[in-house]
Amino acid sequence: MLRSVEKEKVKTASVAPKSQPGHTPEKITNVICTKSENEEPPSKSILVKRIEEEPPSNQATGRYRFFWNVPDSSWKDWKWQFRNRITSLEQLVKLIPLSIEEQAQIYAVSQRYPLSITPYYLSLINPDDPDDPIRKQAVPCIHEISMSSIGLEDPLAEKEDSVVPGLVHRYPDRALMVLTDICPMLCRHCTRKREWRHGAWTRTDAEIESMLDYLRRNTDIRDVILSGGDPLTLSTSHLEYIISKIREIKHIEIIRIGTRFPVVLPQRIDAELCNMLSRYGPIWLNTHFNHPNEVTPEAAAACDRLLRAGVPVNNQTVLLRGINDSVETQTRLCQSLLKAKVRPYYLFQCDEVQGTEHLRTSVETGIKIIEGMRGFTSGLAVPNFVVDLVQGGGKVPLQPNYVLSMNNDELIVKNYEGKVFRYRNPNSQNRAVAAPPVSGVVESLLADADLPVKVKGEADADRIIIRS
Ligand code: SF4
Repeated sequence: MLRSVEKEKVKTASVAPKSQPGHTPEKITNVICTKSENEEPPSKSILVKRIEEEPPSNQATGRYRFFWNVPDSSWKDWKWQFRNRITSLEQLVKLIPLSIEEQAQIYAVSQRYPLSITPYYLSLINPDDPDDPIRKQAVPCIHEISMSSIGLEDPLAEKEDSVVPGLVHRYPDRALMVLTDICPMLCRHCTRKREWRHGAWTRTDAEIESMLDYLRRNTDIRDVILSGGDPLTLSTSHLEYIISKIREIKHIEIIRIGTRFPVVLPQRIDAELCNMLSRYGPIWLNTHFNHPNEVTPEAAAACDRLLRAGVPVNNQTVLLRGINDSVETQTRLCQSLLKAKVRPYYLFQCDEVQGTEHLRTSVETGIKIIEGMRGFTSGLAVPNFVVDLVQGGGKVPLQPNYVLSMNNDELIVKNYEGKVFRYRNPNSQNRAVAAPPVSGVVESLLADADLPVKVKGEADADRIIIRS
């Protein structure tokens, strides 16, 4: 199987996106989209072409089923993984069973929304399960085009908040640098799917300089997020240049990196990258695990390397129909993340993006998931469920409703088991709150130390007990 991958010559192309003037016409290997929309559908001979070599055993799983003859040195090399991404139907059909109908559908979808899957991520697919959660995130689905009239191209209105090309400044103290549109894996639910048709680009030196210049002039910005595409597709030296320039700006306190590499190509998190990042902290990394099957030993080891380099890792999951839309799956995912020392940070309602409607589920589902987790597992394992509003309205957290009623005196609240409790409201505005005298604070410390004390009195309003 692999032989056919290895036999294929790595294509090198000069890419100058038509609709993005000014982007680097850089050499990109194995360009994601190589077909024009006018091309003929594949001939039947291509559709039915199957791998001639048999895998070693039908029982083999993961890497050893798909890529059994790749040496370790290649498998662990992120550049090998990146060069050998599966980017065409012809490659995919050699690896996982696809009916003729599925092949025709994938071909049709890929004309508008291309595919790109790393060998590592593909090896996580169970090829015998058409509903495999990894497969659904990676392999094109006909509903991407059959339902594409639903949704918006740019629901978060990122273009409107671009202050210079590539720099989004929406919130007062944060700015987002979009450095490239290249990703090692093209997630079928991507919010920036609109960028895929522009080919593969990275920002030019001049564009980077104008972003840095904006950051230098705007002293309110204290938090810069490097995003894409995936910013870790840039070489470590190129990234270091950008990060070091940001670090020279005194008012920038933290740098965040948004990347899916730990999930789809954990080999990228190598010693060279970690050493570089460790020199420019504080740097936080937000990644994007969606399913417990993605939290593999390789992915956990990549997160561990980041943590050892002083880079805290948070996770942002997207709620996806048929992939992770159950309490059981989300609980397993978040517990697996905690074991890998990754904090479950956000659970995002899938954005209203054209070509993703089949993967979106109701907001109530997300709220029910949080309700089914809160109290039943560690609070640290429960992410914030948020909706990112259209037209740049920003993120809004949505919670189950635990407060049944509330007035100045008390709240009626429901706990995680559905039991109802009264809770006295100490912040009532029509009552004076008595502060404990200093001596009372000292005495309460004595009380905590379990020394014999005598009750002197009580400040009833807030039940502050003063002892002597
Ligand atoms: S990694 Fe992020 S930006 Fe890249 S395709 Fe996936 S969701 Fe989109």
